Amino acid sequence: MRDLFSYSVNAALEHEQTGRRPIRIGELTCRTALSVSRLPGLNYALNPYEGCEHACVYCYAPYVLRTDPSEWGEWVNAKVNMPSILSRELKGKEGVVGVGTVTDPYQPIEARTSLTRMCLEQLLRSKLRVSILTKSDIVLRDLTLLAESSKVEVGMTVTARDDRIAAWFEPYAPPPSKRLRALTRMNSEGIETYVLMGPLIPIATEAELDKLISDIVETGTRRVMVDRLRLRPGMLDRVHNVGLLRDDESKRQFDAKALSHSYSSSLELRLQELVENAGMVFESAF
Ligand code: SF4
Repeated sequence: MRDLFSYSVNAALEHEQTGRRPIRIGELTCRTALSVSRLPGLNYALNPYEGCEHACVYCYAPYVLRTDPSEWGEWVNAKVNMPSILSRELKGKEGVVGVGTVTDPYQPIEARTSLTRMCLEQLLRSKLRVSILTKSDIVLRDLTLLAESSKVEVGMTVTARDDRIAAWFEPYAPPPSKRLRALTRMNSEGIETYVLMGPLIPIATEAELDKLISDIVETGTRRVMVDRLRLRPGMLDRVHNVGLLRDDESKRQFDAKALSHSYSSSLELRLQELVENAGMVFESAF
């Protein structure tokens, strides 16, 4: 992945204070904007940033990008020429493009650069359909743009109901309560939305599950997709470090569930029942 890009000679990386810690901001020039995607339902992927400020401990993106997972969330590179590269790639393209497959397209830096928005403006004029995935209410900045198109859907990831529990696993992402309010706003504007409950996190997702489904129904969202936790080397160690699991026994219980296929399958089945009983469409990415 990294060899697709050449770093601009911008060695003096900028530091930005996002809430609780500084991160390194850099610039990249990319050679391509759309990459072929093997993810289900997507033909192409578009990621205006490399890296992600949200720093979720379960993120698989550093493994896809072959970058150090222990530093994930400490830096982000903006692909500053992506809008102009994209304009040359759209001709003749059809299908679905996923925006934000290895980064969050509405992480804090987007409020300054608008790279995602500039790409969206072009995508929504093309023959492509667009599927956005985010954890951020910054998406509301583009409410009017999104509401004008019938070719776009916005997925909002919600892995836990309790803001404090979610913060252990997604330390710099907006809390779930904000994400649900953003969903309500988008639904009220007629934008097609769905909730990604993924990955299913032991302890976090299963807490107050019935109430979480009710909350999602309240937003007006009609579709819920679930995905399992895809463990990678070192991931469980990072989960242990977040502090929610205070003693060895709770760490052992978390690991046993995280490693158990029957645990994730039974949680998926329970979710399917709750989602369908609530009148929503259930999808599985297992
Ligand atoms: S928001 Fe998505 S891309 Fe960003 S750290 Fe979390 S899981 Fe990874």
